[in-house]
Amino acid sequence: MRFTFVTLFPQLISPYFDASILKRAVDKGLIETRFFNPRDFTTDKHLKVDAPQTGGGAGQVMFPQPLDAVLGKIRRENPKAHIIFPMPAGKPFRQVDAKRLAAKEEIVFVSGRYEGIDERIVELYADEIFSIGDYILTGGELPSLVICDAISRNVPGVLGNEASLHEESFESSLLEAPTFTKPNVFHNLSVIKEYLKGNHGKIHALKRKLSLKKTQYFRPDLYEKVKIKHSEDKK
Ligand code: SAM
Repeated sequence: MRFTFVTLFPQLISPYFDASILKRAVDKGLIETRFFNPRDFTTDKHLKVDAPQTGGGAGQVMFPQPLDAVLGKIRRENPKAHIIFPMPAGKPFRQVDAKRLAAKEEIVFVSGRYEGIDERIVELYADEIFSIGDYILTGGELPSLVICDAISRNVPGVLGNEASLHEESFESSLLEAPTFTKPNVFHNLSVIKEYLKGNHGKIHALKRKLSLKKTQYFRPDLYEKVKIKHSEDKK
């Protein structure tokens, strides 16, 4: 799978693929990255890529020409490229999106800077628009990486142990039950005793119960959905 980043600051993104799981995925040829800087496509003689907002307003906006040049080229070369704009105004990015998008052959992330991107570029090129939360960051590089990382884990072969994908938070809309490792007692705190008894059926049932409790406590919004689904399944 190929990830293409359109960004004024490729140096903020590329080191992330130089270590750990994503480096291994790149080395194995499971994922590939490439970078385009809109500044390399500007026809402005001072290499500008931003201009004041039309109609007034604080801050600059990325103007259409350089982004149109780079995104037009990408789309002509691969009409199947799926173009994502991270924006605070987008729909919330979720685990179901990460799973769905892992089947694409190429995903393009367009990082905004300044006060964002001229809306006409979004209208012309966006296949999807995602927000990573209700706060404003200085640019789209972190959101692009967040989304890319979450998708990459779902590309077959990227994780050493694929089973972990099925036991994580947000599977069946639940948060993961508490997890422990050695030692069995740490600072006077013991792991849950049932986990030590080796009865996998009982451990599984307990984990499900703890998952529900944890979701109810930390994410009542998700818990309500699980409850509704549960009662519909029983009908
Ligand atoms: N003026 C814009 C607004 O109010 O929606 C915010 C622009 S922000 C300073 C610059 C860029 O950062 C955006 O174009 C987008 O690419 C990225 N960005 C900032 N916060 C984000 C978020 N919560 N989710 C996704 N992208 C975000």
